[in-house]
Amino acid sequence: MSKFHIAVIQGDGIGPEVTSAAMQVLQKIGERYNHAFEFTQSVCGGCAYDRYGEPLPQESLDICLQSDSVLLGAVGGPQYDGLPYEKRPERALLGVRKAMELYANLRPAKLFDALASVCPLKHAANIDIMVVRELIGGIYFGEKGMRTGKYGREGYDVMCYGELEVERIARTAFELAQKRRGKVASIDKANVLKTSGLWRQVVHDVHADYADVQLEDVLVDNAAMQLVRDPSQFDVIVTGNLFGDILSDLASQCVGSIGILPSASINDTTRGLYEPIHGSAPSIAGKDIANPIATILSAAMMLKYAFNLSAEGDAIERAVETTLAQGARTADLAQDGLPVIGTREMTERIIRNI
Ligand code: NAD
Repeated sequence: MSKFHIAVIQGDGIGPEVTSAAMQVLQKIGERYNHAFEFTQSVCGGCAYDRYGEPLPQESLDICLQSDSVLLGAVGGPQYDGLPYEKRPERALLGVRKAMELYANLRPAKLFDALASVCPLKHAANIDIMVVRELIGGIYFGEKGMRTGKYGREGYDVMCYGELEVERIARTAFELAQKRRGKVASIDKANVLKTSGLWRQVVHDVHADYADVQLEDVLVDNAAMQLVRDPSQFDVIVTGNLFGDILSDLASQCVGSIGILPSASINDTTRGLYEPIHGSAPSIAGKDIANPIATILSAAMMLKYAFNLSAEGDAIERAVETTLAQGARTADLAQDGLPVIGTREMTERIIRNI
């Protein structure tokens, strides 16, 4: 029997409900495929601030760093909005990502046949995109500050990428494409930005090692248009932190509710952070309303990418697809003629389909 130690950051709002759902699903996978998943709680986010005065206590970070991988619900809530920057729940997330050196954020956006009618695009079909976003560099982490300039007070943020940062994320994208449909679209703004000029050059250099993958460069403004016009044309999209932040949200909305979209933040090791793309949804917390699918699918990504358990990950994805096809809908996916069920019932039905 193989054993896996998973650090679980339940976090705030709906975080505890959706992580609990994912842990039950993993438990079922363990029974079915003879693995032992051991969970250790790591207190991070607003709840850690409430208890310890810090959003990311060292002990909580150590639990993540000592685990085989990390499962996260969500952090944050309006009661923390007034806190100074360093104490805010989101700092915990940035801190864990940085400490674990998770430079690649993978966000699949796949349209389930059963949910075609909740898709906001009229003629959507065959949407299956993997957005690969650089996560710990670029403008979010460059020099920033306030100063006085020609037009009065100025705020500035420096966008900078080093070639090694681009090279490693490009390799991640090409390798994923090799296991998918063999296409990478690299998104930049090379007609205006020096950073993008270097980005494009390095991506092409790396491409020389992946002759079986087709590469195209797409300017970010065009990429936004193409995602809405015909998202089915994309396989893997690779881009920097800022463009990736925006385009991954756009891609996710092409396939329906925020409640069904998972993500993985990874690096060259097998330890990563797996989390739904949604936040802590405070207004629906504790009401058995939240859709657990995004977190359950994040657990499926963990099985595939962290533990190399592809068959087990596929089993979860199939169970979700079957459950949706059988008409199970949480409130965020409400459809005429189908009864709405809660978080627990959705979880139970998915488990029954494994
Ligand atoms: P949100 O994702 O929490 O909610 C956006 C909307 O989607 C809300 O209407 C919410 O009810 C709904 N929603 C979200 N997840 C859902 C689910 N699983 N099932 C059904 N409906 C769901 O984003 P927000 O409202 O902008 O942020 C709320 C809090 O979450 C803020 O404090 C924010 O800072 C935090 N946040 C945390 C993360 C994270 O932990 N990774 C990400 C984004 C936002």
